[in-house]
Amino acid sequence: MNVHIKTSEEIQVMREGAKILKLAHDAVRGVAKEGVSLLELDKVAEKIIRSAGAVPSFKGFQGFPATLCTMINSEVVHGIPDHRKLKKGDLLSIDCGVKYKGFHTDAAFSIIVGGDAQNPVRAKFSRCVRSALLAGCQAARAGATIGDIGYAIEQVVRKGGYSICKEYTGHGFGRELHEDPHVYNYGRRGEGDKLIAGMTIAIEPIVTSGSPRVRTLADGWTVVTLDGRDACQWEHCGVVTEDGFEIFV
Ligand code: MG
Ligand code: MG
Repeated sequence: MNVHIKTSEEIQVMREGAKILKLAHDAVRGVAKEGVSLLELDKVAEKIIRSAGAVPSFKGFQGFPATLCTMINSEVVHGIPDHRKLKKGDLLSIDCGVKYKGFHTDAAFSIIVGGDAQNPVRAKFSRCVRSALLAGCQAARAGATIGDIGYAIEQVVRKGGYSICKEYTGHGFGRELHEDPHVYNYGRRGEGDKLIAGMTIAIEPIVTSGSPRVRTLADGWTVVTLDGRDACQWEHCGVVTEDGFEIFV
């Protein structure tokens, strides 16, 4: 494991970058209505990020073509925004990264298009994944382990009757979008690498409502559930502290 412990100055830069990412999230949330295309969401996010003096982390990363990863319903991760329009009741997950003054931040959220009442089953699923994320964040502190985070996430997901997609994990971040350590969404308490104050990590449960098995579409990016059931992602990034986890965004 090659973990970069951040200085307080570096952490401050990432806090500022995260504010820009939050602006992008909020703007996308505000326009993600029925009839709006995924490409339009992408343009909104990119404009906000660039006008704040930052750049989209994902665009060009290993050839990814967009600012956002947009996932509708059975799409799990790495969805490419296209001309498809949102429909009421869609479960939409939005993942976005920002690079500001040389440092990345990375976070994701999910919504039910048109509001939770449009599809209470999907809304319940999304709430569970968000709860799992928060449980993971609560388990993170100096001296705890990667396994403590994974255990906390897994308990909430299992209790909800959903499945963790184990192919995908959270991660460290900083000068690189993905740094060590891997932050697993499953694990055993007390196992795995110890967390150290100043470690910046993204915690991101990626959960399916049916089988956790997935496949990648012909575009080489979009990952979907094999059984066509829904998937959902929530992600916070922040810094491990002596007594907890400071969420940047
Ligand atoms: Mg991430
Ligand atoms: Mg992300």
